[in-house]
Amino acid sequence: MLFRKTFPVGPLRCNCTILACEQTQEAVIIDPGGDALGISQIIEHHQLTVKAIIHTHAHVDHMYCTSEIHQAHGGIRYLHPGDKSLAQTLSIQAAWIGLPPISTPTIDTYMEDGDTILFGQKHALVLHTPGHTPGSVCFHVEHEQQQPLLFAGDTLFHRSVGRTDLPGGDIKTLTHSIKQKIYTLEPDTLVIPGHGPNTHIGQEAVKNPFVQA
Ligand SMILES: [Zn+2]
Ligand SMILES: [Zn+2]
Repeated sequence: MLFRKTFPVGPLRCNCTILACEQTQEAVIIDPGGDALGISQIIEHHQLTVKAIIHTHAHVDHMYCTSEIHQAHGGIRYLHPGDKSLAQTLSIQAAWIGLPPISTPTIDTYMEDGDTILFGQKHALVLHTPGHTPGSVCFHVEHEQQQPLLFAGDTLFHRSVGRTDLPGGDIKTLTHSIKQKIYTLEPDTLVIPGHGPNTHIGQEAVKNPFVQA
């Protein structure tokens, strides 16, 4: 079975997720953008071993607590290489949203499209979906007898899409990513976006006002 806790963190309420294999209690942390204490409490309460800290992209609201969580719990820190230079600006980004500066966390592994990140008997598949940022990715997780999950970062939201007016953003690239990489997945896939409520791929493919299949 798959353990999942998703909750909003930080001033921009980024959806952070703790995913774990219930057989082995090995976990991945997706987008630890704030509330390091709350994240740690869940890890400790459920006695999880953090195998990896994975990021949908290098905006500070998704990475603010990466170093803190790593110091406390370990885990391999992953980022797509397309966001390498964006990650160097985390301190400036923090100032934009009124947070104290942070140093750029060390990245242990640069992940590519098609890579799998293992935690116990489960894995997350990396889908490179540039457009919101050059190194934006989604994580696709399949598990037995339940609908597949897609952690979409700031690429696709409930009835919306990620903004493309920030450095490195591009609307054409974003549209292409959503059509080619996301709308081609199973329609009943549950989408957990980087912000706001969940949705389903089948619904967005017909009802999203910005990008339809
Ligand atoms: Zn973002
Ligand atoms: Zn965000």
